[in-house]
Amino acid sequence: MSAQEADLSSPLDGDTATDLAIVGGGFTGLSTALHAAERGIDCLVLEARQIGYGGSGRNVGLVNAGLWLPPQDVRRRLGEARGAALVKVLGEAPGYVQSLIERHQIRCEVTRTGTIHAAHSPKGYADLARRAEEWHRLGAPVELLSREEAAELIGSRCFHGGLVDRRAGTINPMGYVRGLARAAQGAGAKVATGVTARKLRRDGDRWVVETDRGAVTAKSVVLGTNAYSDDLWPGLKKTFTLIHFFQLATAPLGDRGRSILSGGQGLWDTGPIMFSLRRDACGRLIIGSMGTLVGGITGLSRRWAERTLGRLFPDLGKVAFEHCWHGRIAMTPDHLPRIHRLAEGLYTPIGYNGRGITPGTIFGKAMADLLAGGKEEDLPLPISEPNRVPSAPVMSRLYQLAFTANQLVKSL
Ligand SMILES: Cc1cc2nc3c(=O)[nH]c(=O)nc-3n(C[C@H](O)[C@H](O)[C@H](O)COP(=O)(O)OP(=O)(O)OC[C@H]3O[C@@H](n4cnc5c(N)ncnc54)[C@H](O)[C@@H]3O)c2cc1C
Repeated sequence: MSAQEADLSSPLDGDTATDLAIVGGGFTGLSTALHAAERGIDCLVLEARQIGYGGSGRNVGLVNAGLWLPPQDVRRRLGEARGAALVKVLGEAPGYVQSLIERHQIRCEVTRTGTIHAAHSPKGYADLARRAEEWHRLGAPVELLSREEAAELIGSRCFHGGLVDRRAGTINPMGYVRGLARAAQGAGAKVATGVTARKLRRDGDRWVVETDRGAVTAKSVVLGTNAYSDDLWPGLKKTFTLIHFFQLATAPLGDRGRSILSGGQGLWDTGPIMFSLRRDACGRLIIGSMGTLVGGITGLSRRWAERTLGRLFPDLGKVAFEHCWHGRIAMTPDHLPRIHRLAEGLYTPIGYNGRGITPGTIFGKAMADLLAGGKEEDLPLPISEPNRVPSAPVMSRLYQLAFTANQLVKSL
């Protein structure tokens, strides 16, 4: 929508061969391509629509450290050694994303003043205190904010406190993903858009990716399709519960919006149906929550956004909304992402649970390290087998009902 980086589109002309075929032009696929090309691997990205069409271009733009789960829970679920290693690499990941932005001069409105996890209730505040305690033990620059301190930073008295993480920041996500595509191309990767991978088959020691524009033969394949996975690898889209997250952007607010998130931090809250807020470089407020967009720019979601902004910032007055969209999120049962080896030479990092800027970038780099001769043991996550989640379709529908009900109730 407002990204300064240009969209990059280039067709695939007939059959071709490469070392590494990458399906999906989001953070995962393009980070894989960039790092693989930098390591001298010949690679080709196949994106069905446009760069950033999936979650990567529809994102809030919170470049957060760690995972959605508190760090102590990541360690408990993955075991001490693997858990601590993942927490460390993802704790440092915002710095890595920022260094890529710097190195490749990606125009994505990057801010480096942190993000705020805001407490929606006393219980939410207790959860933040538990997170803060563990991050402090690990030496991370996070600060637990009192109610007054949170009110000052956010410009709203509605929260019970907050946790500001100074490692984190914000970006225009479409700018970042397009910039990754430009950087990958600059490093020698080929990027083809408007190409749907239809089938994967083995031919001797090679993979053949059959697309609607020709066949691509490759030694290895990485699927970076995440929540947008289709039937390319049968059963893959049944390994997670699909939920949606919608957003609306106001017109630029000028001086009226200056006291809102005045330090440039992006925000999300501790509510069970989380909401998010960011102010972009043009002074638009971008507000969102879980669920699909209902009724477009004039319908229920817009009323929810108006009421929510009115509750948070009673002095703001009426605002105009210019854009709205939603995107898909892949949730795993334990809220941990996965790296699956689907077959020999065929990998997919997947299931980011709504936290994909840093994991997508880091897991893409890890894929490139592996395919350049690294060991599976050095991946940030242990390799796992894909497991179907039988309850996923029912859960998706129940979540969507709850999310729409939430919009309704909060629009009254
Ligand atoms: C609304 C929203 C807000 C979010 N906010 C944040 C946030 O603030 N911070 C954060 O860290 N994370 C956030 N996330 C999560 C994050 O955006 C995702 O985890 C991340 O974008 C996943 O990146 P990816 O590259 O793995 O997949 P995607 O970006 O989803 O890319 C998958 C791509 O694969 C393509 N594709 C699928 N099948 C095929 C095929 N057969 N052939 C060719 N191409 C195919 C799709 O067209 C798509 O472009 C948000 C997600 C959403 C939806």
